[in-house]
Amino acid sequence: MRRAYNSVLKLPQLSTCPQCAAPYVPHRLCPACGFYKGRQVITVSAIG
Ligand SMILES: [Zn+2]
Repeated sequence: MRRAYNSVLKLPQLSTCPQCAAPYVPHRLCPACGFYKGRQVITVSAIG
């Protein structure tokens, strides 16, 4: 009965964004810069 320990094993694997080097979930667009598959999908206000 170690449910808390189970959750630790389910950490999502993160990739590093080639655009801004921020960690992001694979097959999702980067939350930091909005890049996905080598192109910009959304415009993040932080970029300016
Ligand atoms: Zn990025």
